[in-house]
This record gives sequence, structure tokens and C-alpha cells, in this order.
Amino acid sequence: MYPFDFTKVCDTQGALEAGRRGGRYIAGGTTLVDLMRETVERPQTLVDISALPLHEVTVTERGGLRIGALVRMAEAAAHPQVRALYPVISQALELSASAQLRNMATIGGNIMQRTRCTYFRDVTAACNKREPGSGCAASQGFNRAHAILGTSDQCVATHPSDVAVAFAALEARVHLLGSDGARSVAFADFLLRPGSTPNREQALRQGELITSVEIPAHPRPLKSGYLKVRDRQSYEFALTSAAVALHLRGGVIHEAKVAAGGVGTVPWRLPAVERHLIGERPSQALWTQAAERAAHGARPLEHNRFKIELLKRTVERQLRIVGGTP
Ligand code: SF4
Repeated sequence: MYPFDFTKVCDTQGALEAGRRGGRYIAGGTTLVDLMRETVERPQTLVDISALPLHEVTVTERGGLRIGALVRMAEAAAHPQVRALYPVISQALELSASAQLRNMATIGGNIMQRTRCTYFRDVTAACNKREPGSGCAASQGFNRAHAILGTSDQCVATHPSDVAVAFAALEARVHLLGSDGARSVAFADFLLRPGSTPNREQALRQGELITSVEIPAHPRPLKSGYLKVRDRQSYEFALTSAAVALHLRGGVIHEAKVAAGGVGTVPWRLPAVERHLIGERPSQALWTQAAERAAHGARPLEHNRFKIELLKRTVERQLRIVGGTP
């Protein structure tokens, strides 16, 4: 680990000033400290923001949810309103990591976490995300866990967050605070595909803070859930995953929100699947036909072609779990 300065701030103004001077925000530190140990990350100054007043989960006036950036994963997963309104969020969080990590890591840190591509974490390997212009060892290397959607010739790494898949499906917004004031960004625009700049991963400006993630109100009742498929049952990153939320009225699907994880360079919304569901009545045939559209546009690599079929089966299974069959 390289030497660094450490400062703790007690208010947002102090945080923004430190951030403007180039300080890196840290709260739970469960990703950043690991990466610093491996010398992948070498911040000169860490700014501890864990004392900022961003620890609340609240129901918004319109009936959505606002989750403060510093709410711990475990707190968010266990929160009665999160469990009641959006079980897909609770399930995604509980399947993410060990209890110890969930007790430390925050919602803001979770969506900021960096890829688990092994070449990214190996400082002797070529990696455009870690060192722009150096190449991508994964594209010709062992790429079984990598992305099949949203890739570029510069980077094929997946985004590792589970709860980000639920946020993408639920059309969340990320609230930010910077020296120019507050703004909010649609979750779909917050995490960036690699394109020609895989080192740029979020639509954050210098020194900006995430203050909360807001889930808009959806029609009720909304049935939702998260399914994660991985090499081992306990605390592993997703090979594929599916976040599904369905609103049925009179036995007909009126709203369908579906996103996939483990397959995209960002959490991957599946609009073709959603379109196929809306206006239909649940049936096994419907789930199968809709899931057939899940891998539209996929570009598999040498070792991860299996993800195409696995993704379809993951989506089909989760549609059946959430939507049931008559
Ligand atoms: Fe780096 Fe992305 Fe290539 Fe992995 S896939 S080695 S993160 S450029």
C-alpha cells in the first residue's frame, strides 16, 4: 500500500472542499481499501465521509423510497419499507456479500464498486481501465466471467453490483451534490459503458458526492424479486442474475421491469423482454417466450458463450418465481 493522508469531515461543505482538492471519499471502505492494498488504487488523500447525515431511508411524498448514500447494505436490506415495497432490493443486497461486509459497506459505495476482472486487480497485466492505453488482457485471456453485453474493444469487464441491477430495473435516480449544487441523474445514465474510456465509470463530476438513491413510486401491488446464479452458493459474484418487478391488474401484466446482472458492462435493462410481457396473462409459455429475448445483441467472448443460454434461463426462472403460473 502506498502512503496517503487521511482526513475526516463532519459536514457536507467540508467534504465538498476536500473533494474539490482531489480527496477520495471513503465510508465503509470495503472495496477501496482492498484495491489500495493491491496498489491498484493509489489515492493521495482519503476523506472519511461516514459522519455525514446521509443515513436515512425515507418514503417519498409520492410513495417511492429514498435511501441515503451512507445507509449500510445490511440496514437497507432489513428496513421494513424496503422489504415491503421493493423486496428485489433486499434480496439483491442479501445475496451480495457476507454479513460482515454488508454491515460495513454502504449503498453509495456499493454502486461505486469497481470490477472484479482479475486482470484489473493484477497490476502486472495490461488493463485499459486501470491504465488507459495499456490494452485489455481479458479480451484474449480467460474471460469466462466477463461481459457479453455493452462491451467495447477497450474493455469487457462486468459491473459487479447486485443491488445496481435492482436499481436499474426500478428506474432509480442517483442524487448528487457538488460545488455547483445538487442534481440528480437517472440510474441508467449514472454508470457508464466502457466505450473508448473504460477508466471513466460513473457520470460524476470532480468532487461530487452521492447523497442518496431514489426509487420512484411504482403502481401497487408490485411483485418483485432477485435471482443470482453463481459458481458457488455462498458469496460469489454473479455469472448471471435477474431483477424482475411486475404489476398485474385483473390478471394482466400492466407493468414489467426486468434487468440482468453478470452479463453487461453495466446493469443491463431488458426492454425487449418487458415489451413482450405487457398486456399478457402469466403463463409458462409467456415466461419462456419473453426470456428468449433476454440476450438480444449479445457478443460472447471465447470462454463465456454459455452465458447466453444461462441468461435466458435465469430470466425465465425469475419471471416464473415472481409472476407465478396459473
Ligand atoms: Fe481491464 Fe476491462 Fe480488460 Fe478487465 S476487461 S483487463 S478491466 S480493460
